[in-house]
Amino acid sequence: MIKFENSLEFAKRKDHEDVLREIRERFCIQENVIYMDGNSLGLCSKDAKEALYHVIDLWEKHGIGIWDVEDSKYFLYQKVLGAKLALLIQADADEVTVMTNTTINIHQGISTFYKPTPDRYKILVDDLNFPSDRYAVDSQVRLKGYDPKDAVKVIASSDGRFISEDAIIEGMTEEVALILLPSILYRSAQLLDMERITKEAHDRGIIIGWDLCHSIGIVPHDFKHINPDFAVWCNYKYLSAGPGAIAGFYINKRHFEKEPGLAGWHGNNKETQFKLLNEFDHELNAHGWQTGTQPLFSMAPLEGVLNIYHEVGMEKIRAKSLDITRYLMDLTDERLAKYGYTIGNSREDHKRGGHICLEHEEAYRICKALKNRGVVPDYREPNVIRLAPVPLYVSYEEVYRLVEILEEIAINKDYENYSNKRTLVV
Ligand SMILES: *Cc1c(COP(=O)(O)O)cnc(C)c1O
Repeated sequence: MIKFENSLEFAKRKDHEDVLREIRERFCIQENVIYMDGNSLGLCSKDAKEALYHVIDLWEKHGIGIWDVEDSKYFLYQKVLGAKLALLIQADADEVTVMTNTTINIHQGISTFYKPTPDRYKILVDDLNFPSDRYAVDSQVRLKGYDPKDAVKVIASSDGRFISEDAIIEGMTEEVALILLPSILYRSAQLLDMERITKEAHDRGIIIGWDLCHSIGIVPHDFKHINPDFAVWCNYKYLSAGPGAIAGFYINKRHFEKEPGLAGWHGNNKETQFKLLNEFDHELNAHGWQTGTQPLFSMAPLEGVLNIYHEVGMEKIRAKSLDITRYLMDLTDERLAKYGYTIGNSREDHKRGGHICLEHEEAYRICKALKNRGVVPDYREPNVIRLAPVPLYVSYEEVYRLVEILEEIAINKDYENYSNKRTLVV
């Protein structure tokens, strides 16, 4: 057990010893800002910017010729990016593609696999997942003529923070056709045992898809062992590919022959795509699940930032993430607990993602006060201050300063200067 010291000197020493300290220079750090919201929208990097400017230049110079330059790289860009992303989750290069957004990719996964029969027609979900996933599931069930109240089986959390893996497994009854779960819960940062849950699902003949939105780029995954049927994720959170960046989609190679639920011409076999035939002949890999023309400007930053990820490797990112989140928890225990701040995430490494779920009854107004002090936190209903010390660009010194600011806000009751009225984007 590492014992952290409660001093600025100690924080500085940690930064000095940090193997990732030079990577921070590659990101566009905002002056006088402590950015703790990289799990909602990761910071811009110089690599991402360069890659985007390069594609804009190509458009300017070549017009429609952009699809042919660099050996058709940009016509096949989803393959370039899919292969690079696959390295982060130990999948085969052609099991991963990039397209649309997470929500549409959930629709794509479910519409491909959800073939309800009178005996097996339920989709199993949890009640703490991000609502968009749930809206997608409910609408897919309705499209097949079922009532979500009957056909969506919800595993409820007993405390509003965590989901019991045993309850999920007990819920895998014979009427369940498909399961959709988050790898990490967006509020409490609970990391589920994906390998165990996937195996239990498969033992019962149930298809399982995972939403990696809060784990991609912060927790290493080994899809060779987890072996799920499909997975989706966004690339704009930890992965820092930019606001509205194109999303990820994984489909296990044993399903390549399956007909995509949502078909489109960019999913067609590349050899015959421009013959423009009426018959859809889908490519027999993840790219067969493409629909329409890909948005290059929402893709290029991803290529840039993935270079950083490949240089560093997920193991070092996870090691610093676990260390710096533990540091934040230790400082919280020592300096903040007496002011009503509590830790709402697991303290166990194997059950914790990359952010800290700091609870306080004045969480909303404290977030306002934090912003006024140059800290970018993330508020989540009803009482959660999410704090993500992203290993690539957040320093130990910033975490130390953050705790100091949280302490001052509580001592001076600074939050009393703010209203509890919610704004559009919290
Ligand atoms: C961020 C997030 C989303 C966002 O979906 P988009 O379609 O990319 O806007 C969906 N699900 C989860 C679990 C998320 O964390």
